Amino acid sequence: MVDYFQERGFNTVEDADRSREEELERHIMRLMADFNLFDEMGMPNQLAPPASPEIVNNLPEEKIQETNCGKCDICLKEYEKDETVKIIPCKHKFHSECIIAWLTKTNSCPLCRHELPTSDPIYEQYRKEKKRQKEREIDIENLHNSMFS
Ligand SMILES: [Zn+2]
Ligand SMILES: [Zn+2]
Repeated sequence: MVDYFQERGFNTVEDADRSREEELERHIMRLMADFNLFDEMGMPNQLAPPASPEIVNNLPEEKIQETNCGKCDICLKEYEKDETVKIIPCKHKFHSECIIAWLTKTNSCPLCRHELPTSDPIYEQYRKEKKRQKEREIDIENLHNSMFS
């Protein structure tokens, strides 16, 4: 059978080209490995999705009664009397507008990274998986500790 490239007048691959090709191939393999890894994680390296709107709309509110009771860590301004703050599940509080704007971008507390539920089924699946993985790690650690202590 006539070589496809020879037939069309292409030179056969020179040694130098060949090693470049191999390098490219290795590079692609590496990229593919990275992609597989992302697939396995279920989520590429991107910002987590916004918090679920139902959760955000139902966050408990508090009215600031006095000045000098701390500052909002999103806009970094001191709370003023009569301002409304929202308290998120990790007990951190922020101005209502600030935390609402924040949670429509991503689902975690800007201070402690505590994650709020999202309405993204794929992300929730990924989170469950991650949690299960962590629990498994803890199990193994406990087992290890109980055997070696
Ligand atoms: Zn604020
Ligand atoms: Zn927090």
